[in-house]
Amino acid sequence: MGNNHVTVLEIDLNAIEHNLNEFKSKLNPETKVMAVVKAFGYGSNALEIAKFLAPKVAYFAVAYLDEGIDLRHAGIKTPILVLHPQKINLEQIIKLNLEPNVYSITLLKAVIEETKSLKVRNYPIHIKFNTGLNRLGFTKKDIPEISALLNSQNSVFVKSVFSHIAASEDLNEREFTLAQINNFKKISTQFISQLSTTPFRHMLNTSGIINYASEAQFDMVRLGIGLYGFANEDAETAKLRNVITLKSVISQINTIEKGDTVGYNRAFKAAETVRTATIPIGHADGISRQFGNGIGYVYINGEKAPIVGNVCMDMMMVNVTDIDCNEGDEVLIFKDQDHIEELAKRTNTIPYELLTAISQRVKRSLK
Ligand SMILES: *Cc1c(COP(=O)(O)O)cnc(C)c1O
Repeated sequence: MGNNHVTVLEIDLNAIEHNLNEFKSKLNPETKVMAVVKAFGYGSNALEIAKFLAPKVAYFAVAYLDEGIDLRHAGIKTPILVLHPQKINLEQIIKLNLEPNVYSITLLKAVIEETKSLKVRNYPIHIKFNTGLNRLGFTKKDIPEISALLNSQNSVFVKSVFSHIAASEDLNEREFTLAQINNFKKISTQFISQLSTTPFRHMLNTSGIINYASEAQFDMVRLGIGLYGFANEDAETAKLRNVITLKSVISQINTIEKGDTVGYNRAFKAAETVRTATIPIGHADGISRQFGNGIGYVYINGEKAPIVGNVCMDMMMVNVTDIDCNEGDEVLIFKDQDHIEELAKRTNTIPYELLTAISQRVKRSLK
């Protein structure tokens, strides 16, 4: 790839390693870590991150088959859990040695059929129980049927049993979460007692590791956003290093006279003379129109420059009246975790959404 893009999302792999170690320090030494690299590695670069983390983690998780295909094609040999497979994905999943989350009777029957028809024996699958998120998974009452199906064949075996917490970051929901954990302990113990092999267990995401490592660590944790520098609470985020920096440059500086307007639909009207800088990034790159009209801001030469008017598809204008800057100067659209958290707050969302919104048009580079 050439250097013909000035708008770049820069990824700091050393910061990812620091963050991984920070979470490992909260865990028992024998607890395995699954690095969650779905959605292009939370909008960064799943392949680079997976290559870097492969020697350091036990597992990877992706949401969809295509994401697993990309990792296998990049030569990643680490076990990969596909969190949200469909029946039609199973043949490719098995051929690529990806491991499906099996969350329904339909999917369980289909994976047994598919492994049989491919003449595969003892294929690893992962059984998910729903304990309160009410998104995907079996419930306690499914145990007799799942165990009967599993015990009447040898095409697949249960490598792990898992569940997902609904509000791991919210300590006001501690009672609900502890009930979820207890429920998972009971359900998984009952289920495992019906099997001839012993699967391992996992339940915790990033905030789960922070808040429930002593109650629900089990054999593995599924670390996502924490790797990328966010812990969903300030004190913990402060211990993490910033991974993602979104950068661009000033294309042009304009002087807007009193009464003139800036951008589409003339959303900004100058009450006095202002100077604006035009930046080559827009809503097609993942900078939502919600950031427009002063809600969002970038950093130029260390100063905050608010977005002026509406965000366009391919560019946006910012107010640099009081900032000493020139065309070609660097612009930080995502400076660090604090900046991303503040932008998320101002647009009523969470860092997860801002990071994953950065579109594939934006070039990714390693720091
Ligand atoms: C995305 C996801 C995770 C990772 O969550 P974070 O909050 O990013 O750590 C873990 N488990 C499941 C099932 C997920 O879908």
